[in-house]
Amino acid sequence: MAEPYKIVIGLEVHVQLLTKTKLFCGCKNQFGLPPNSATCPVCLGLPGSLPVMNQQAFELALRAALALNCQIATHPGYPPGFTKWDRKNYYYPDLPKNYQISQYDLPFSHNGWLEINVAKDPKKEYVPKKIGIIRAHLEEDAGKNLHDESGRGGDTLVDLNRAGTPLLEIVSAPDMNSPEEAIAYLEEIRLMLREIGVSDCEMQEGSLRCDANVNIHVPVIGTQHATEHSDFHATPLVEIKNLNSFRAVGRAIAYEAKRHYEQYLQDRAGRFRFGKMLKTTAGWDDARGITVVQRHKEEAADYRYFPEPDLVPVVVTAEQIAAARAAMGELPQAQRQRLMAQYGLSAYDAQVLVAKGRATVAYFEAVAQALGDGKTAANRMSDLIYPALAERKEAITTFPISPATFADFIKNGPANSQDRRDVFQLMLTQGLDLAAAKAQAGIKDLDETALRAAVLAAIAANPKAVADFRSGKEAAKMAIVGAVMKANKGAPNEVVRRLVDEELTKG
Ligand SMILES: [Zn+2]
Repeated sequence: MAEPYKIVIGLEVHVQLLTKTKLFCGCKNQFGLPPNSATCPVCLGLPGSLPVMNQQAFELALRAALALNCQIATHPGYPPGFTKWDRKNYYYPDLPKNYQISQYDLPFSHNGWLEINVAKDPKKEYVPKKIGIIRAHLEEDAGKNLHDESGRGGDTLVDLNRAGTPLLEIVSAPDMNSPEEAIAYLEEIRLMLREIGVSDCEMQEGSLRCDANVNIHVPVIGTQHATEHSDFHATPLVEIKNLNSFRAVGRAIAYEAKRHYEQYLQDRAGRFRFGKMLKTTAGWDDARGITVVQRHKEEAADYRYFPEPDLVPVVVTAEQIAAARAAMGELPQAQRQRLMAQYGLSAYDAQVLVAKGRATVAYFEAVAQALGDGKTAANRMSDLIYPALAERKEAITTFPISPATFADFIKNGPANSQDRRDVFQLMLTQGLDLAAAKAQAGIKDLDETALRAAVLAAIAANPKAVADFRSGKEAAKMAIVGAVMKANKGAPNEVVRRLVDEELTKG
């Protein structure tokens, strides 16, 4: 490691669940509706209204927890599967009830892990690392305050459409040690939750939000007053908020680590240490590239958590767990391993393919099976399909070239590269199959028999070149290739070379 310290990172991720309705009422859970149009007495917190749990939200959360390898509500002293709701009390203008229904001491899932690739060069190698998941629990979201950002001091408006929508909070262990690892973890969570249909994880729309807890460990060498830890000093925790992109997460972590080290070096009194200072909450200012301290964090007790009296506890059954597992489908990690084993893909090729989602993987598998060659299928998709999809801003599900047609093109397409481009364009823009596209481009199938006869004629007409080649002058064969090309304008060079090779080495 280049730095003289170790960065320690834990991430707290909130994702919005893809339910039709909110967590405890029947209001729509949908982004972009007119302000305050999706509200009712329950999510407005009016007196006398009572919450009812949304079963679909619980099923989605359970699916996510299982995908994160979590234990489901295994709490000492309670029956298996027992979990409950708690009130987290605080005042904020976007929280009309003055409390949030969340989970405190008995979350519905805990003690899981997620594997990420921490290779320095992911193109060359795969280095797995398991990131611990401390807990994943369900809670309701708050509304949104819309501040006047013009600087003219206008009113702040409150939109309560989001109040009461279901959130899954996923708390990682402090197991990540670089900005790159934090980003890899977020990418894996996002891919997985999208694939299993739990959340769309759109950071722009706030359906995936992330806070980072960061500090550094500085090794203590040759000192005798290292008190709390024998071999390193830990700096106080900072929780970074307002992280609006994965890139911002990486930049903010790198910034904080550097700032911690500078402050640690200046701290002669030894006060800038974990345990001696309160945790700090800081906001990331992406435009300026700095963090701004917001407050020193309240302790958990300040929220006066207590069991939610309006909701009965939940007992997750073995049947529910089995159903959630069945609904999960193949997870990205398992899918990569399978594609490597079944089709001989490299770890990197498998990574690229799986990151594009299940529909692309299905397309690949159809092409690979038709060809009987996974590596070629993956390479040709990288060369042709991905650029075409990007250019057309299209999803693979509506791509006009079917896997069978694409496999046919790879196997039986024109040999000449310009012809290949023309035919591919016709298949793409007009939805033609290979034969129709070739006919439209005026490309006749190559007559290899005639070309082979021309090669034999050229060999007969150039005895010196043949003798030179046979005495070890590899380059002499180019004279024969040249002669064939001259007599057969437009013949594909690569085919001519192959035929010359075949005929010259026949003995
Ligand atoms: Zn409502």
